[in-house]
Amino acid sequence: QQQAAASRKSAQMNQEGAVTPRSLDFNAWYLDVIASAELADYGPVRGTMVIRPYGYAIWEAIQVGTFAPPPSRLVGTVLLVGNTLREENLKLSFVLCALVYPQRLGNRLMENTWLVVLMFIPYSFIEKEASHVEGFSPELALVTIGGGKELEEKLVVRPTSETIVNHMFTQWIHSYRDLPLMINQWANVTRWEMRTKPFIRTLEFLWQEGHTAHATAEEAEKEALQMIDLYEKFAYDVAAIPVITGRKSKVETFAGASRTYTIEAMMGDRKALQAGTSHNLGQNFSRAFGTQFTDENGQRQLVWQTSWAISTRFIGGIIMTHGDDAGLMLPPRIAPIQVVIVPIWKTADDKTGVLDAVASIDQVLKTAGIKVKVDDSEQRTPGWKFNFWEMKFKGVPLRIEVGPRDVSNRTVVISRRDVPGKQGKEFGISMEPHVLESHVKRRLDDIQTSLLERATLFRDGNIVDVSSYEELKAAISEGKWARGPWSASDAEELKVKEETGATIRCFPFEQPEGQKKCLMTGKLADEVAIFAKSY
Ligand code: AMP
Repeated sequence: QQQAAASRKSAQMNQEGAVTPRSLDFNAWYLDVIASAELADYGPVRGTMVIRPYGYAIWEAIQVGTFAPPPSRLVGTVLLVGNTLREENLKLSFVLCALVYPQRLGNRLMENTWLVVLMFIPYSFIEKEASHVEGFSPELALVTIGGGKELEEKLVVRPTSETIVNHMFTQWIHSYRDLPLMINQWANVTRWEMRTKPFIRTLEFLWQEGHTAHATAEEAEKEALQMIDLYEKFAYDVAAIPVITGRKSKVETFAGASRTYTIEAMMGDRKALQAGTSHNLGQNFSRAFGTQFTDENGQRQLVWQTSWAISTRFIGGIIMTHGDDAGLMLPPRIAPIQVVIVPIWKTADDKTGVLDAVASIDQVLKTAGIKVKVDDSEQRTPGWKFNFWEMKFKGVPLRIEVGPRDVSNRTVVISRRDVPGKQGKEFGISMEPHVLESHVKRRLDDIQTSLLERATLFRDGNIVDVSSYEELKAAISEGKWARGPWSASDAEELKVKEETGATIRCFPFEQPEGQKKCLMTGKLADEVAIFAKSY
């Protein structure tokens, strides 16, 4: 019912073109932004969504920004070339079905394959690793009938692939020469979530999941850390989201992992979002599945493993970090459209000159690798277009206006999405290709930097250092994050959750110097933890 009401509201809102101001109602604003920017729609099943082309384009930007060209661009390629952002991540890349290609791992060349996407997992697989089944049971969707007949063994709709991967690894790994083995897939998974929200937590979502097997515990740990580091860099450098990176508490560790590392982001309503995770699985799954290799001395050993993922949740994180009262605001490095060009004319004579100028600007910027969209449709007024592309709808970082007077002066007007009104407007910017290109690039960089700075200031202004449970409770009740020394028990951690609604988001890698006393027990504590309410 709620969903139906929200859809009705969205439809209404779309017609009227109004987004609930963020400052008025964060939740309504979030749903309005998704509807008005045409990022996603509700699916027919509770808690599901259909990602629309503009939302999917952001997902593709996340794919490129993390470590690979989107799979759709890989069809027919054998050799994967090029990581747009970080050369060293060339070691991992992604293929459809059975494409095989060489990859670099450090200074070694590796081969990697992708297996046929497996949607169904025999229930017995899930049961093999005790804490895995315990953790995932409440979220499993099961298939019990196939072809009209009761199945002998029920099947689980894949919630994550550690079990299938181990089943395959037992067949692929024989000796130490087969290690490390690393695979990844961009796929969909299903978790029967009770509390759902578009992008942030849906029943079915898209993600990349990487799985690795190593000969030693040290190598697996290094891999798990390297991947969370990669996610952190992506969050800062591409999504302009200042995350806090750290280790999850035992209570919050992934079901079946020995250690979970996380990046935690502060949303605009100050709730925390677990934006990506990397798990050191130890030998938990290899023990359950018998995933072994023969070492250099001829001994059989269990492999050490990791898995790591980011999902379409990240899109929700981008919306909730950067959006403002007016609507969506996208960082240039994620934006499917970085610059929108709006031609303005009244007479037919003006139109030709303006459109010619716009076409050449479009060409110049496209050649420079900038993602440009020209809106020369005649059905809409320039004012409507300004709103549509920027403020209320698509969150495009930069707008270029070209009118008849600009054409005769050989200049353009440029406006920034992140700086409202006159302050964000620049008049008389030269149309000369090299001048305009470097100006636009500089402005896009400025916006990228400014969004990160803004989000960092906001985050830092909302984290409170606490040294007692009373202080923690006060900070949480003000909607802030609390950071304080912690060495208390799991039971006490659960008590905090019950009494305040906050959980330990992580023990940050960056720790303050000096001796600390646990905020709960007063006993010595090695680390500070961050507590917050979360999505
Ligand atoms: P996990 O395998 O539980 O560590 O999940 C990996 C990542 O997927 C998490 O860090 C989240 O960012 C994301 N994720 C988990 N559950 C959901 C969900 N229901 N909807 C969207 N993203 C999710």
